[in-house]
Amino acid sequence: MKYFEHSKINTRGSHLIGMVWPFRSCKVEVYDEGFNCTCKVRPIEKCNHIKSVELGILGVGQKYWK
Ligand SMILES: [Zn+2]
Repeated sequence: MKYFEHSKINTRGSHLIGMVWPFRSCKVEVYDEGFNCTCKVRPIEKCNHIKSVELGILGVGQKYWK
């Protein structure tokens, strides 16, 4: 399984582990290693599902969001 990390979100040992965000055709889940989405079998890069979950965690429109 492929995991995607985010530079601002530390998932290792995080309270986010095990959380699931369901989307219409897939789901994003958080693991120690990072985010995983079920929309692609072998994702090469982060899909929009993961990106939107990350934005939700960070808070869209935050002052320090880059
Ligand atoms: Zn996805």
